[in-house]
Amino acid sequence: MIESPLLPHIQGYINGAWVGADGERSVKVHNPVNGEVLAEIPNMSADQTDEAVAAARAALAEPASLAQRREWLEAIAAALVDNKEEMGRILTLEHGKPWKEGQGEVEYAAGFFSFAAKNLDALKSHALSEKPRGCSWIIHYRPAGVVGLVTPWNFPAGMIAKKLSSAIAADCPSVIKPSSKTPLTMIALFTLLDQAVGLPKGKVNLVMGSAGPIGDTLLQHPEVRVVSFTGSTEVGKDLIRGSAEQVKKLCLELGGNAPFIVFDDADLDAAADQLMVNKFRGGGQTCVCANRILVQDSVADAFATKIVERVKRLKVGDGMQPDTDLGPLIDRAGFEKVRRHVTDALAQGAELVAGEVPEPLEHDWGGFYPPTVLKGATSDMACWKEETFGPLVPLVSFGDEAQAIRLANETEYGLASYLFSRDEARAERVIPRLEFAHVGHNTGTGPAPEAPFGGMKQSGFGREGGVEGLFEFIEPQTVPRGD
Ligand code: NAP
Repeated sequence: MIESPLLPHIQGYINGAWVGADGERSVKVHNPVNGEVLAEIPNMSADQTDEAVAAARAALAEPASLAQRREWLEAIAAALVDNKEEMGRILTLEHGKPWKEGQGEVEYAAGFFSFAAKNLDALKSHALSEKPRGCSWIIHYRPAGVVGLVTPWNFPAGMIAKKLSSAIAADCPSVIKPSSKTPLTMIALFTLLDQAVGLPKGKVNLVMGSAGPIGDTLLQHPEVRVVSFTGSTEVGKDLIRGSAEQVKKLCLELGGNAPFIVFDDADLDAAADQLMVNKFRGGGQTCVCANRILVQDSVADAFATKIVERVKRLKVGDGMQPDTDLGPLIDRAGFEKVRRHVTDALAQGAELVAGEVPEPLEHDWGGFYPPTVLKGATSDMACWKEETFGPLVPLVSFGDEAQAIRLANETEYGLASYLFSRDEARAERVIPRLEFAHVGHNTGTGPAPEAPFGGMKQSGFGREGGVEGLFEFIEPQTVPRGD
């Protein structure tokens, strides 16, 4: 069992108090390295979710000034930075990513609260300089109401930071549900909110356990005005269907299938270094990980050699060991998906140039997948069509610019993409034609708190980060006044 000063309670949090489940049932949280049970979290009910919404509704009646919200946001950022080592440790134990990455994620999370604090004036009411229809006009940015925030397991600190920073900036009380696979980082965050920030009762509420009853309650409750969800496209589509009855606003950050395009004029070493950082972060389990690596024919072999050299140096192991580059995959289903993508590609003629095909995984833990590189991948293969979410680099070659663009866009997803070329004119031609909301140009970097991030096509809608993200939970109200 995990012991931590940030986990004095393994409970939910409603109306400023820690609460267990109202029944007997609980959910076990495992360390994906060895299956150790880290904790048992309460499996909270639909009734408790209702209570959380009621507490949040009551908090809405006490509006906070921009100055007060700024203070809270700064206090959360500071608490995260001060506790990054311990919070990073909790994150690593339940997720599996290396501890240094876990700490980096906590700092990244703090960045969203700092950015919101610094840019809060964007939400100030203002008057129009024109007088349309003979009136003076004031625009107010009102809180949308109670918001439901649902987060995935792959960034247990980062994903809630994106949502909660904007909710607090907008003065929206929230009901939060973390993934059942990684709820402990969220509980640790609530400990900091409880002990170090001083938010009013009901402003933030935490429920956890079975997704169905909690998710349905958030969708069906008329007081919940926005549901912001990060997770799979499959569940995102269920939420779209479930939100129709009340015309509820959704913010959806869904799956990706990122192309990483290397043109023949690229700096191949730089592109290879960037691919390594991008592809193997979180064990390859991020929505912005390169999924399809498109390399121009004339440099395909040279680039493959550079990647294979680098991949062979990677150390797979327990994230708490200082020399680990890559932890285990989150569970057996995650492991078997990568294995299926590799065996399918090999059956269809791809060549294995790094890694090996492991035996099926017996348990739901210990999924140390060997980093794998395949040459000769094609668009008929499962690894091309689906998000692999693991340490697989499928190399696909292309002839010219037009083919690269066509192949890159050959997916229903539109989240992240990457383009490597030293030819500025080429980049200017290609970037606008890529149907992705994030295009890394000579970089494999993912999102930053300062810039809006979200999806096109079936990767979702809405934006998190940047000033644009501060408006996700805002309802603009216009007041024309006749003189
Ligand atoms: P998931 O299975 O869709 O789950 C995400 C969250 O939704 C979890 O908290 C889950 O709870 C909950 N959930 C499941 N069914 C629900 C329902 N019917 N109603 C309400 N909530 C429900 O996704 P995941 O496996 O955790 O995350 C991986 C996916 O997230 C990948 O596809 C990845 O690309 C995507 N992702 C996207 C972004 C982005 O910015 N676009 C960022 C990160 C991840 P339980 O855990 O309790 O089931």
